Amino acid sequence: MRQWLTVLVLSSLMVVSASPVVSAQIGQPDIIQEHWYHSYATLTLDLNEWSDDYPEIVEMFSIGQTELGREIWMLQISDWEGGACLSSEFEGCEHFKEIGEGELERKEVVYIDGGHHGNEHLGTELAFLVAEYYIEGWANGDQAVIDLLAKTELHILIMLNADGNDFDTRWNVNQVDLNRNYDHYWNTCDSTQPGSSAFSESETLANSIYMNEVVPDADLYITMHTGVWIMLYPWGKWPEQPSDWEMYHYIRDEVNSNISDIPIRNANQGLYPNCGTSRDYGYGIMGYPTFTFETDDEQFLLGTVEALSDRLGEEMDVMHYLIENVWYWRARLVVDSLEVEDGKVRLSVSNLGHSSTSNATLLYFEDEDSMEFWLPGSNEPVEVTGSMDIHERKSDFNFSTPGYGFAVNATNSTVTTLDFTGAPISSEGVWALYYQKRVIDSSMWTSELVNEGVAEVRVDDSGLLPAPTMLLVLIAFALAIIDRRNTRFEQ
Ligand SMILES: [Zn+2]
Repeated sequence: MRQWLTVLVLSSLMVVSASPVVSAQIGQPDIIQEHWYHSYATLTLDLNEWSDDYPEIVEMFSIGQTELGREIWMLQISDWEGGACLSSEFEGCEHFKEIGEGELERKEVVYIDGGHHGNEHLGTELAFLVAEYYIEGWANGDQAVIDLLAKTELHILIMLNADGNDFDTRWNVNQVDLNRNYDHYWNTCDSTQPGSSAFSESETLANSIYMNEVVPDADLYITMHTGVWIMLYPWGKWPEQPSDWEMYHYIRDEVNSNISDIPIRNANQGLYPNCGTSRDYGYGIMGYPTFTFETDDEQFLLGTVEALSDRLGEEMDVMHYLIENVWYWRARLVVDSLEVEDGKVRLSVSNLGHSSTSNATLLYFEDEDSMEFWLPGSNEPVEVTGSMDIHERKSDFNFSTPGYGFAVNATNSTVTTLDFTGAPISSEGVWALYYQKRVIDSSMWTSELVNEGVAEVRVDDSGLLPAPTMLLVLIAFALAIIDRRNTRFEQ
């Protein structure tokens, strides 16, 4: 079943933006933090200081407990002027920001975790440094950071395996490798200690719940490790390139040309076959663009002679690039023109993003309140079920059915003619693009209204009618979520 989450935004709230205030220093002295890796206790202290000092941008709470009962801390960093994403019950997390009077737009969502393996301290510290960079940058009035946090949410789980971290061991307390415990081809590779079943461990279960409940629409997921100096993209399970290889190769080439020589490879080939990882889960089940970031090969030491921010400076540059360009890590379709003549729609679409999309389609609603829509080639509308409540509209239609869709390659354009002769097209109608953000089956569907300025409808020989009437304040029309449990895996 495919489920629609239809979001109709008609808010007329005016929110006055506040400027950040430079206030207290971060708690733990830099000289210690730069050379001594975090324990669970010192991390807890540092995170509490951040959330106390910068409540405007830092939300901190526990998403669950480790097997030994330590809290699994989540940091949410963004300009929360438009309302915080979170609560501990994960309610009200709509990821919106206000972009003008009564106009809301979705924020970009980045998800980062560290510390799956308790003895890979540099990976954990890289997650910490990312959080620190954006928090301190905002506090110090860095305009680029302020601008980024106005339109981006960073969700950072720095230390997933706090028990293993404090014991300085790879495993959790049950001697399970947490990064083999995810529900994506769990225990189908020759790996050791994957646990008794997928998500048998409280740490991985909590992480997966957070992904599904709070950040299902993230357009970047980075999981931090240490072991080899490399960045790994899916798959670990298979040697083949992933469906969105075009995007991964683009990122690889850009990073290698402009930022760092760090190898960026398919995990199976770049490292070794591995299954049940958070990276493959993040891509294969959640549909995120995902990377495992392995900082280098040092393990088992509890501190570093060279200052951390120097030692991980190049890795931080890569992280900035990935975060600051998150807007591009998906398909971004824009309708250049839409002309209707005798029921035939000639559609010109550009893709501004760096991901391709393979089964985009065009939907027609007779008016903005219509609870049914028309598809190309159909003689009757598809009913939208549920109530008029914007969160409860649903459709069982399978949009992946061949014949309805068209493809648009990354940073490219497509012109296609779609047959809407069966639909009662008028100037009252509303057109919407419906497409997946990436090629991978599990990637999220999104629905976006066609800008009224580009649509032209010719109903007879009398010429073009005025552009269809549309909602002026409406930005996000419909966002769709797939029931991921029923999603096919791509190889
Ligand atoms: Zn690791």
